[in-house]
Parts: sequence; structure tokens; C-alpha cells
Amino acid sequence: MSTIIYPTSNLKTGETLSIARGEGVYVYDDQGNKYLEGMAGLWCTSLGYNHPELIEAATQQLHNLSYSHMFGGKTHQVGKDLAEKIRSMVPVDDAHIFFGNSGSDANDTQIKLLRYYFNAIGKPEKRKIIARKRSYHGITVASACLTGLEVNHTNFDLPVEALGIIRTDAPYYLREKLAGESEAQFVDRIVGNLEKQIIAEGPETIAAFIAEPITGASGVIIPPAGYYEKVQALLTKYDIFFWADEVITGFGRTGNDFGCTTMGIKPDMMSLAKQLSSAYLPISAAVVKGGIYQAMIEPSNQLGVFGHGYTYSGHPVACAVSLKTLEIYQRDEIFARAASNGEYLQAGLQQFADHPLVGEVRGRGLIAAVDLHNRASDEAFPATVPYRLQQACQDHGLILRAVGGTAIAFCPPLIISREQIDELLGKFARALDDTLQWAT
Ligand code: PLP
Repeated sequence: MSTIIYPTSNLKTGETLSIARGEGVYVYDDQGNKYLEGMAGLWCTSLGYNHPELIEAATQQLHNLSYSHMFGGKTHQVGKDLAEKIRSMVPVDDAHIFFGNSGSDANDTQIKLLRYYFNAIGKPEKRKIIARKRSYHGITVASACLTGLEVNHTNFDLPVEALGIIRTDAPYYLREKLAGESEAQFVDRIVGNLEKQIIAEGPETIAAFIAEPITGASGVIIPPAGYYEKVQALLTKYDIFFWADEVITGFGRTGNDFGCTTMGIKPDMMSLAKQLSSAYLPISAAVVKGGIYQAMIEPSNQLGVFGHGYTYSGHPVACAVSLKTLEIYQRDEIFARAASNGEYLQAGLQQFADHPLVGEVRGRGLIAAVDLHNRASDEAFPATVPYRLQQACQDHGLILRAVGGTAIAFCPPLIISREQIDELLGKFARALDDTLQWAT
């Protein structure tokens, strides 16, 4: 029994590990045990723990202006500076930015911006959103409806029908291919299904297609070659926005500035959070292209207000930390470093490709997954096996996370060194062998 209702936890198991402090890429529990944080917390602590410049940025801002809001057009310089910095970095044309506090609320905001926009341009029926199976877009009522994972719907009576979510295939070749199907055939089939869905629903009723360029929580799924090119062409053909959920893949994670760059996507909208502030403080950004913003101006003038905003939209302390984070990314060439050390990690992980428990090793930059597979039966293991591996890693002082039911994910802070990657690989090798002994 516990006073805290733990998020995304087994409420019966309850508390599992009490983390007391962090330093660089390591965290320490309340017994003093040290762990390499191979997941950067929840895919977010890009610059590691106890970073003096981020602490200083927060402290300065707390002294100067601990809070101010942005309602009624009130503003502050650090918020404006951050918006300009994000605008200069994202691959969205003439980007405009709405600040929030989490990836989930950024995605909620995007749904509302889409409605506002299509109402403004006289197309109120264009409001459905295509989201994929095996996707994660957050956990508020609306963003959980976008999420394509059953565990986030069951017992919550989600998805809400009225939201008009169209569920399409996951580009997960390993688990979703038909017998004998090549990667190219798989892509053609699922993109063909997508087109059939668009036609059946009516393209005039569909506002956007949302996708994580590379998924996180659902298993680090990397679509086969050609997938996004074909999807993007379909969306252009039917006048549907590409909405990139870059909450995990944004800011260097995949070895480039954004996952869209790595995967060759040109987005109309982008949701950002997590590494936006290296997780030192909660902040998110819903980014839309200029045309969407321009169309919203007149209706808000008619009503006297654009009726959407959070108390903490553009919180100055979060903005200051985020701005410093983005400055450090640029000054220290963190994305290039992530690309180079990412190659080192991906090459190192290949040593496990032939391990008896492993079906596939995949990744880009500093995000990866080892997908477990029972080679004898050519089937996935039950989810107990990746969870067991996650625990074995923890026993060896390495934090990783079981994801997608069959895989274990890697997502270390972007500042991880090659020596620390070697340490990670060594600990993982021992944990994998322990799990093999347990499973066989
Ligand atoms: N979108 C993606 C791709 C995510 O991975 C997450 C969280 O993991 C979210 C949205 C939701 O973000 P938050 O947990 O900050 O609400």
C-alpha cells in the first residue's frame, strides 16, 4: 500500500527503487548503489544530472522573475528568446510556437489548433486524425486516444469515439509482416492500407497524420526504407498535414537535430518536450507552420481571445533552462557528438545480434532496442522475459526499460562517453546471459 498512486506502474507491486541523486550519466539509490542511466530517465535527461550551467540558469531566473504568465498577451524576454531559438532550429516553415508543460499537453494543444485552424478556413469537417497502432503520444484524455497501446486504453474507456481517431498500421516489419513478405512488399501493403482508409473516411474529413519518426515507448520501431517517403506523398496527395511527434526524437537523439531529418520527413506540425529542457524543468512546445497560425488570428480577434492557455505556458524558469539547454547543444556540438557516439553504440550492440535470446538489434543515433525472440519457436517471448532482463540490468547497475512487450530500450544521455558506452555494453552482456539462464 502506498499514498502515491504510481504512474505507469503495477499498483500491487508498488515501490521498486528509490533514487536519491544523480551526477552526469549516473544515478544513485537511497542505499548508495550506482546505476548507469541507460534510459536518460524517461528518454529526456540529455545533458545528464547536476549540470552546473542549467542549475545556474534556473537559479538566476528564479531570482529575477520566478513566475509570469502569457495570458492577455503578457510576455517576457526569456520566453521570446526561447521561441526564436526553437523557430531557428525546427524544420517547420515559418514556425509558431505554443508553450505547455508536457508532451501530452503539447499533443492535446495540437488537436485544438487543428480544429481552430480548419474552422477558421471554413472546413470544420476536416478534423479526424490518423494515428498508428503501437504508438505513444501521451496520456491525457485526448493524447491517450492518439496513443495506440491497449494498456493505456483499457479500463479508462478510451479512445473517445467523438475524437475521430483513425487507427492505421504500425511500420514494424519484424512483428507485423506476413509470411514471406519482403520489407518493400510490407511497406507497399501498409501504405496501401493507409490510402484505402483515407478514401473510405473521406480525405476532406481528415486533418492530420501523427507519427513519432522513430517510436519510443512502443519498442523503438524504425520503419523500413521508403515508408515515410510513400506516406508523405499520400498525405500531400490528399491534403493532410504531417504532424511529427518529436517528444523523444527531438534535439539530437537520432544523430541529427530532429527525427524528421533522420527519416526524411517534412512536417507541418511538431510536438516537442523532454530534451527541450534536458528534463531539468517541465516544458513543451506545440510547433505549427505559419499558415496555421495566420488563419487563427482573425477568429481570435472576433472572439476577443484565443481561448487556450495553461497557467504555466511559457513559465519563465522553464524557458530559461530550456534556452540554456539549446545553447549548450549548439555550443558543445552535442548532436554531432550523439551521432558519432551513436554509431559506436549501434556497432557495439550488434555483438548481441546472434545471442540466443535476440531476434533483432535496431537503432539510430543514441536510441536503440534489442528485440527478444524465441528462435526455437520463432515467436516472441512472453513479456515476462524483457521485464526479467530489465531487472537483471538493474541488478548489474544499469537502468534500461522493457518496451513494446518484446524489446528492451536504450536511450542514454547524449553526453555519454565511449568509455561509458563500453560499461553499458558490458553490464548488458552480463544481464542478457543471466536472463538466458533464467529463461532456459
Ligand atoms: N509523445 C511521445 C513520443 C512520448 O514518448 C511521450 C512520453 O513519453 C509523450 C508524447 C508524452 O509526454 P509526457 O509524458 O511529457 O506527457
